[in-house]
Amino acid sequence: MSSTLSLSSNLANNLIDTARYLGDRPAIRLETTTLNYSQLGRAAAAVAGDLQARGIRAGDRVGIVLPNVPAFPILFYGILMAGAVAVPMNPLLKAREVTYYVEDSGMSLVYGSLTAGDVVSEAARAAGIPAFLITELGPTGADLLGFPVEEPVWRGRDDTAVLLYTSGTTGSPKGAELTHDNMSTNASTTVDTLIQTTPDDIILGCLPLFHVFGLTCGLNAAVKSGALLTLIPRFDAETALRVLVRDNVTVLEGVPTMYSALLNSADADSVDLSHLRCCIVGGAPMPVEVLKAFEEKFACEIYEGYGLSETAPIACFNQQGTPRRAGTIGIPVRGCLLRLVDDHGNELLGFDEPGEIQIKGENVMKGYWGRPAATEEAIVDGWFSTGDIATRDREGYYSIVDRKKDIIIRGGYNVYPREVEEVLYEHSAVAEAAVVGIEDGYLGEQIGAAVALKPGAHAEPAEIMDFVRERLADYKYPRRIWFVPSLPKGPTGKILRRSVEPPV
Ligand code: AMP
Repeated sequence: MSSTLSLSSNLANNLIDTARYLGDRPAIRLETTTLNYSQLGRAAAAVAGDLQARGIRAGDRVGIVLPNVPAFPILFYGILMAGAVAVPMNPLLKAREVTYYVEDSGMSLVYGSLTAGDVVSEAARAAGIPAFLITELGPTGADLLGFPVEEPVWRGRDDTAVLLYTSGTTGSPKGAELTHDNMSTNASTTVDTLIQTTPDDIILGCLPLFHVFGLTCGLNAAVKSGALLTLIPRFDAETALRVLVRDNVTVLEGVPTMYSALLNSADADSVDLSHLRCCIVGGAPMPVEVLKAFEEKFACEIYEGYGLSETAPIACFNQQGTPRRAGTIGIPVRGCLLRLVDDHGNELLGFDEPGEIQIKGENVMKGYWGRPAATEEAIVDGWFSTGDIATRDREGYYSIVDRKKDIIIRGGYNVYPREVEEVLYEHSAVAEAAVVGIEDGYLGEQIGAAVALKPGAHAEPAEIMDFVRERLADYKYPRRIWFVPSLPKGPTGKILRRSVEPPV
């Protein structure tokens, strides 16, 4: 067996160090159960020992299909300590989806929750690998303890730590291969420059840990700094508010729809969140109106940033200690370069000109697992093409205009859905909005908008249409607006424009 080597860029060493120096500090909480860092470290080392006894070797892929429960961090760090590669998956996936990930990654073993037991077992059977089922809410992950503890297996900076499945800009899900260096430098950047976490911080773990945002900025940032991560198995506004108050949470991290759900929840007026010292948002555009209303109601500051699964994820952020600009994604983070390019790949050197964001730096993935052609297309000379269109102002702040693939072309004019959505959010009755292209025989595409109204609010589509028409150029306002109870969302809570269908 390999020997331990303390390399700060090895992700598992963050837990080993924190367990050594801050062992009695609380690490992970779910409701009434709290694990401290020494318990978390011991449980993870025990998992590593068990994996090794089962023949798992350095570089083997091991899956985790769990919601945000303490067993997730135990297994995640256990897999890394065994030198293996963690492949986190959404527990809401169906058997054929899990089977796809198991087979695509060439997984050797998969852990799942008992709740998702049938799905995980079916996928494991199809691939001929063992599945281990965990009592989802057996909060200590007690069924994982008691294995013999072994020395962690050494892994270097460029060895793969995680495969995160993402659709990227095109095609079927691909495994973004993130190294120990990618993951651990991004966790350090989060801790040092974005949330400036200390062991006294309490971070709300409401972002799913199987997604890169929750994994790096929630779990790995907490472990890096010795802070407490207080978990919510799956986000809902009522539980999130209850835990925010109960635990005196100091750091809130979420996607925009989480902020609007908290803002519009029935209990929002009666809670005191004065202990919140830092809120960060990313993953999707944060409507400026939601940001302002949230800050006003809860007397806090929200910092917006941007990243992707392929960049581990943080690339650009409104950072503490620099002037904050609502509506922008801030400036590139430490160790990371951004540039904008035109359709021919030429760098745009001017200001306020839209171009595709390319990213280079210590956080850019190794590539897409098993897909050299897709990797070569995505990363050229170290520059990763994101598929996101942005502008840069004279102070170097970037603003996301939209995703390249979401641009609507109406009669030859480009319409960026996000710009229209920002105006819709300004209407006092609108809780959520998604602007989409609708096929049109004459114009090619017409502008449509699905709108969810705030609880108890009343409005007519025509009135909202006029509201937008008065504020934007004629070719941009939606010609069709329809109401929906809520908008379709992805696993992290991002609104899925591509799943929005106009009524027939
Ligand atoms: P994922 O790989 O699931 O993290 O998704 C990455 C995508 O989320 C990016 O390519 C962007 O399209 C989007 N995204 C992330 N942060 C922001 C943001 N602050 N504003 C707008 N879009 C964002």
